[in-house]
Amino acid sequence: MADEHAHGTQQPQGKDNLIPGVKHVVAISSGKGGVGKSTVSSNLACALALAGAKVGLLDADLYGPNIPMMMGCTTGPEQKDGKIIPVENYGVKLISMAFLVPEETALVWRGPMVHQYLQAFFRDVLWGELDYLLIDLPPGTGDVQLSLSQMVPLAGAITVTTPQEVALYDVRKGMAMFQKVNVPLLGIIENMSHFVCGHCGERTEIFSYGGGERAAAKLDLPFLGRIPIDPAIRDGGDTGHPIVVADPASPQAEAFRDIAKKIMGALSGTEKTGLSVDSLLKKIKQPFSTN
Ligand code: ADP
Repeated sequence: MADEHAHGTQQPQGKDNLIPGVKHVVAISSGKGGVGKSTVSSNLACALALAGAKVGLLDADLYGPNIPMMMGCTTGPEQKDGKIIPVENYGVKLISMAFLVPEETALVWRGPMVHQYLQAFFRDVLWGELDYLLIDLPPGTGDVQLSLSQMVPLAGAITVTTPQEVALYDVRKGMAMFQKVNVPLLGIIENMSHFVCGHCGERTEIFSYGGGERAAAKLDLPFLGRIPIDPAIRDGGDTGHPIVVADPASPQAEAFRDIAKKIMGALSGTEKTGLSVDSLLKKIKQPFSTN
């Protein structure tokens, strides 16, 4: 397949950049639901803010927007002159579909509607100047991902996975989708990597271990790091206190901070990161084993 676009930050197909004040837009994706994508997004946003960056978090998971709960934001945004002011907590500006659509409303998302809502998230929200805008995508590949790539310049995409084989298959599919829309791939995060017993310290590899790293190596992508499966991380999400801010001295928080550092490093020289579209396509065509 010919690569007719330049590598590096992907340019939107629309005429205007809807968020000119944002330096780096980073999409956070997953092959399937429940792997901890929103948990990772909220903790990374907090870690970036703690590092002194101006950070926004857009919860574009239209099918299950739970970032406001995870970020401890219970009240919706205010408006000013017809524009939406993002809510803010832990130094992160946040907008979510959960603010706009009542929880009990069952919406059937159709392509044009997805596009319209996403556009409003960029055009009608006063994001202001940001170093990073993280976008928590719905799982899988679909209308949101495609619309997004047409609307704003994406500095890169990150994929969150659990380490087992079945999840890794979905990673490849997700990568192929980003490849199609020419978004640079910043790397893979392995979540729920292993469990360390709080009582005896024994380590258990619940979903096997290291699959994310092996997949990254096979696809020639950066491996950004692994996050353990840990009740404190789940609890942080449930109570609206991400572990990065709730217990900054914990090893779990450190794991998130390390990943945030890698992302900052990678984006400070975007053109050097991510895999070229052609070489990625070659890799994706090769089957890989996790051994
Ligand atoms: P996704 O966005 O991929 O659907 P979530 O971030 O909503 O996944 O996580 C699904 C569930 O798993 C949530 O209850 C969350 O608190 C929990 N969870 C996510 N990551 C971890 C982790 N590393 N350790 C423990 N629980 C986790």
